[in-house]
Amino acid sequence: MTTLIKSINDIKNVLAKSDRSVGLVPTMGALHAGHISLIKACRNDCKTAIAYIFVNPLQFGPNEDFKKYPRHLENDFKVCEEHEIDFVFAPDEKEIYPENINCETITPPPDLANILCGKTRANHFSGVATVIKRFLNIIQPDYVYFGEKDLQQLYIIRWLTKEFKISTFVRACPIIRESNGLACSSRNVYLTEEEKEIASNLYKSLGLAKKNIRSGIFTIKKAILESLIFLSQFPKIKMEYFEARDKENLDDVDDTKTKGFYFLLAAKIGSVRLIDNIEL
Ligand code: AMP
Repeated sequence: MTTLIKSINDIKNVLAKSDRSVGLVPTMGALHAGHISLIKACRNDCKTAIAYIFVNPLQFGPNEDFKKYPRHLENDFKVCEEHEIDFVFAPDEKEIYPENINCETITPPPDLANILCGKTRANHFSGVATVIKRFLNIIQPDYVYFGEKDLQQLYIIRWLTKEFKISTFVRACPIIRESNGLACSSRNVYLTEEEKEIASNLYKSLGLAKKNIRSGIFTIKKAILESLIFLSQFPKIKMEYFEARDKENLDDVDDTKTKGFYFLLAAKIGSVRLIDNIEL
């Protein structure tokens, strides 16, 4: 049976009586196949499985889509029920950030937070780290599940648990894609069918870069250039970045490297911002 819980006191009370291990799946709701893969992994690994649904205002910039972010709690609850989650924790904003509590703001290191998406989304990763630390403190799970789609976020969370000696194990789950290759995202609902088809070329461009590196003829810079040329056929795609980053720590990589790194990209189609990556 799945129980909906709205208050911190209630979740703490039920957890005091729950079996370990406890697994947590953090989400902002509007659940899709990507979220479901994390939910399944959590359910499979842990005696007690919790999904939280919280649209975190701290991680949205002033011109971003916080107000119109899709919110479908009733449907999300059903999805969690279907996948046998024990508790859906869906607190209000005031519960997580009460006015009388000065919630500690976490500032991740600039070499992780100010690169890639952090260049255009100032304070985004500080907002992410702050909310995740808050939920980890409340729930104290043994395992927490994150998708590799938000790869930079995953590295920030690994930093967070290490920095604050949080004894939760971070589990990374692979990217789930729509049938045309487009990475599943809550924001895909903003795209028309035509835009979704166009957006699928983002993944194709990552595959192309990977293939070009594997061929042994291309250096990283050349492979990126080839992929950008491919993408330039689609004027609706406005690229924000297409970069290679080290698997170890998301540092810059040597141009001649052929494995142990990721290609990562961000692009906009209309006002919809999409990210994706591929490992080499
Ligand atoms: P969000 O609700 O967008 O904050 O995402 C919640 C979690 O789901 C994060 O750990 C994401 O990385 C993960 N996630 C989102 N989309 C996907 C996807 N397509 N494949 C795998 N994980 C995903």
